[in-house]
Amino acid sequence: MSDAALRAVLKTQLADLQAQGLYKRERQIETPQGAVIRVAGREVINFCANNYLGLANNPEVVAAAHEGLKKFGYGLSSVRFICGTQTLHRDLEGEIAKFHGKDDTILYTSCFDANGGLFETILGEQDAVISDALNHASIIDGIRLCKAKRFRYQHADLADLERCLKEAEGCRLKLIATDSVFSMDGDLAPLPAICDLAERFGAAVMIDECHGTGHLGAGGRGAAEALGCLDRIDIITSTLGKTLGGSAGGFTTGPQEVVDFLRQRSRPYLFSNALTPSLAYASKTAIDLIHRSGDLRARLQENTKQLRGDLERAGFQVKPGQSPILPVMIGDAALAAKMADALLERGIYVIGFSFPVVPQGQARIRIQVSAAHTREHIDRAAKAFTEVGRELGII
Ligand SMILES: *Cc1c(COP(=O)(O)O)cnc(C)c1O
Repeated sequence: MSDAALRAVLKTQLADLQAQGLYKRERQIETPQGAVIRVAGREVINFCANNYLGLANNPEVVAAAHEGLKKFGYGLSSVRFICGTQTLHRDLEGEIAKFHGKDDTILYTSCFDANGGLFETILGEQDAVISDALNHASIIDGIRLCKAKRFRYQHADLADLERCLKEAEGCRLKLIATDSVFSMDGDLAPLPAICDLAERFGAAVMIDECHGTGHLGAGGRGAAEALGCLDRIDIITSTLGKTLGGSAGGFTTGPQEVVDFLRQRSRPYLFSNALTPSLAYASKTAIDLIHRSGDLRARLQENTKQLRGDLERAGFQVKPGQSPILPVMIGDAALAAKMADALLERGIYVIGFSFPVVPQGQARIRIQVSAAHTREHIDRAAKAFTEVGRELGII
């Protein structure tokens, strides 16, 4: 294939994306991440970051990153098993395991890698993996790589999960895999009932806590803690790139044998560079902050309750859920995009999501509330939504 042919094929596909209104443009932020940011020279209130407790630019975390840089240097130029493991990596792995009450933890440079390197490593042809239909792309890709028999159940549908478990009977190992919080809908997986089914059918449970770690549950241990079944979950994957400081990095925590085997065989771990020292160092501080952040979690809940109530009273349809993700249902993709633009004009930064990220005809504005938002930020958002919603005939 010539270079011209490659360009021509991609040019057509890019034009298609534009024509369908699916082309993503990146707005450039001129400040650190926070409740208020500057975009194109204008200050706006940010309601689309995964910065649920506002730790992304927390002074203690920033100071720890500086200290880590000074003590342990900038980079390692090595994968973990050659010469890329510093004391701080094992410290952080220990802290995360303790935090979740698991045996051990293995760090990755992202949760995408943690999920990508999990299934094919621990499951073989004789095994079965049973996955929620709305799981994150990284779980889907991870499962694609593995040779186990694959079963998919309708989103959060326990009867359908049971059907899959019955079909998987006779397999050597059975692993149920689910997001704990679904990022586009803000709902929590029915984890206690999933654990009940797992016990009945002798299956293990793996959850991805990316949108739960740090801010859900009384101690910030995620949706599993919030739903009272943390000790019944076998394997947890999560990210350091959302609530826990928002930089980058991911992990898998669980039984010793699982973590030991991942260290021996998980490809994104074996064949990719070690986590940056300053980041690993600061993440330990972020976890320490999580232990002391009960007030921030309470503020997050209050903010979420306030904004959900305001929007519902104004007449918006907000998907029900227990997380700080508020999906405001619009329906039409073009209308959702128009609404997001009009909100930005009023200083409220949110994003409209449409097909293929969400089902056709279910376009929505996803609001992500943060503990860093003040009461005034929440009030301004509610006011702007109401004005724009009326202007566009949504409410
Ligand atoms: C964000 C996210 C990931 C990816 O995490 P990274 O550390 O950014 O790679 C994986 N799973 C879920 C459910 C997520 O929301």
